[in-house]
Amino acid sequence: MNIKFKRLNKTIVKCKKCPRLTNFIKKVSTEKRKQNLNEEYWGKPVTGFGDRKAKLMIIGLAPAAHGGTRTGRAFTGDKSGDFLFKSLHSVKISNQNFSNNINDGLRLKSTYITNILKCVPPGDKPMNNELSSCSDYFVKELDYLKDLKVIVALGKVAFDNCLKIYKKKFIINKKIIFKHNKNYLLPDGKTLIACYHPSPRNVNTGRINEKKMTSLFRKVLKLI
Ligand code: SF4
Repeated sequence: MNIKFKRLNKTIVKCKKCPRLTNFIKKVSTEKRKQNLNEEYWGKPVTGFGDRKAKLMIIGLAPAAHGGTRTGRAFTGDKSGDFLFKSLHSVKISNQNFSNNINDGLRLKSTYITNILKCVPPGDKPMNNELSSCSDYFVKELDYLKDLKVIVALGKVAFDNCLKIYKKKFIINKKIIFKHNKNYLLPDGKTLIACYHPSPRNVNTGRINEKKMTSLFRKVLKLI
């Protein structure tokens, strides 16, 4: 299984299937953000990471411009990641409450974190053809994680696109809509759970807070 993942990640990192996104990554990584001007940006697509025997998968939409695209790891080096890892550490899914860089010692317990789209899109708005081109990689991640039981989708766009990918393979007749903390049983036996994205906007408006997020992950721990 590790060899399969190694091959997959090697392919993802070199992928240039979406010229608009490849150019945007180049722009972001060259221009940089003021506080990171002296850093070398990862500047490539960002793979998933975590436990290859994971029972839980956490998905976002795409790496952040100055988070994952800078550090090379999803939800690493940005405010959404700061919030997420505080919550994951509270429920002992991660060994530490921060995720700053790929050498920070972070370990996940039975959990794998990835994004539906492996490259940051301008304005966080991907095009349908980009989502479609990248979906093969997500399908492979699902396939390689043989012990997977639960998928937590952070945000409506990640949730909807995960569902869209499932609908290509399965007929799903029941109505499945994004509702925070709601579980849906998928045709392959996995459970899909909707969770508000821990973005600064959602945190600042109180849509999501640490109590809500840790309570959702406590529920998840009972399912895996
Ligand atoms: S979004 Fe996915 S398919 Fe498109 S270039 Fe990035 S890795 Fe390749």
